[in-house]
Amino acid sequence: MTMTEYEAVIGLETHIQLNTQTKIFCSCKADSWNDAPNSNICPVCCGLPGVLPVLNKAAVEKGVLLATAMHGQIRPLSFFDRKNYFYPDLPKGYQISQFDQSLSSGGYLDLPVPASASPDGQAYVRRVSITKLHLEEDAGKTKNAGGQRFVDFNRCGVPLVEMVTGPDLRTADEAAQYLTRLRQLLRWLGISEADMERGNLRCDANVSIRRKGETHLNPKTEIKNVNSIENVRAAIEHEIERQIREVEAGNRIFAWTLEWDEDAAVLRKMRSKETEADYRYFREPDLLPIRLDDAWKTAILAGFPELPLERRARFIREYGLPEYDAEILTAERKLSDYFEAAVRAYGGDPKRVSNWLMNDILRMLNDRGLTADQIKLAPAWLAELLKLIDSGTINISTGKSLLQKVEESGLSPAALVEKEGLAKVSDDTAIRAVAQEVLAENPKEVEAFKGGKDTLMGWFVGQVMRKMRGKADPNIARQMLEELLK
Ligand SMILES: [Zn+2]
Repeated sequence: MTMTEYEAVIGLETHIQLNTQTKIFCSCKADSWNDAPNSNICPVCCGLPGVLPVLNKAAVEKGVLLATAMHGQIRPLSFFDRKNYFYPDLPKGYQISQFDQSLSSGGYLDLPVPASASPDGQAYVRRVSITKLHLEEDAGKTKNAGGQRFVDFNRCGVPLVEMVTGPDLRTADEAAQYLTRLRQLLRWLGISEADMERGNLRCDANVSIRRKGETHLNPKTEIKNVNSIENVRAAIEHEIERQIREVEAGNRIFAWTLEWDEDAAVLRKMRSKETEADYRYFREPDLLPIRLDDAWKTAILAGFPELPLERRARFIREYGLPEYDAEILTAERKLSDYFEAAVRAYGGDPKRVSNWLMNDILRMLNDRGLTADQIKLAPAWLAELLKLIDSGTINISTGKSLLQKVEESGLSPAALVEKEGLAKVSDDTAIRAVAQEVLAENPKEVEAFKGGKDTLMGWFVGQVMRKMRGKADPNIARQMLEELLK
């Protein structure tokens, strides 16, 4: 038996931290990343006796946006339930979650898997079903240091969406793709920072294997809390290989919970897994159900955006962009908005706008750590700059240097061309005079050129351009030089 005779069956369980201002059932602020431990807590999120939770509307609204993007069916009436378990980071002894009547049911995410990540080199689309999507509160954090165990309750009550996929993914690459697309979608919708290293997006992976062609599911292991997409991919790959080795050696696979040790790149056994029944769910008596009537739902979904994959497809169809460009330009919503605004303002070839964006403006954004809507070089100014080049007012190299100048000065490209006298000189007499100067200053090169060293023409043109600080029309310069050298 070899690896190719098995296939992996992978399901992902993600916890998504919603970027609300306040926690889900109290008015403590939701983001306490920079706060001292236990400084952002109140009697509600710590579950002191006699307190009552009050639902944060914004958490529901962000959950509805996500469920809609996943093509889920929003329930008009959904309920909160208590999930009972005992752990030091859970002061209440239960977590408020949603069990059987959650915010949304069903749904899917389509993953375009590129040829480069496909086992047989053919691009394909994997439809990943969503089996669970619900709102819940986060627990606190524990950590060990100096032989002691510490607990920080700041994170208690932070709003989460738990989203679970069906066992539909087949490779570690597909799992990584799923997370990449989910992260893109969360940021696109503006509902989560989706930063895995900060734990705004957390992922557990369920992994089992079976012989190809089989349809039953074997016992699975669960890999907990891996903190980057790359590590999820690596951990799943290791686990698939381990399970194949075990099965090949005639051993059984047990339903372990495993933890990825990033430094050693190995999986360690944490504990045997609890089953759902161990949690003794019952309806949360302190909260009313969420009643999502049509008016509220319509208000939430007003302005629901075109999603990244749809937009990517449209960029290819409508603007004739290569898939590569469309993928990069739709990586972030603000960048794709920028592109479309610039194309509209320019009115010329969209591929030219795409080239300038991908080659020059993205670099500027990265260097300055900005998003596309934060730069001074607004889409209309990029369009203006391209028009200045098209009309022959400036040459391309002046155009490239203008990007930086616009960004630094906040002046429009046309104003800068005017102010700094950057317009291309196509005045024959002026260029002819400089060409004469260059030839007079370089008798040796003129001699060599006349002796047959044709390649010196480029050098002469370069000298003229340099003397005219890049503003000469190089075609006219060449023409003048040719005439003078005859
Ligand atoms: Zn609180």
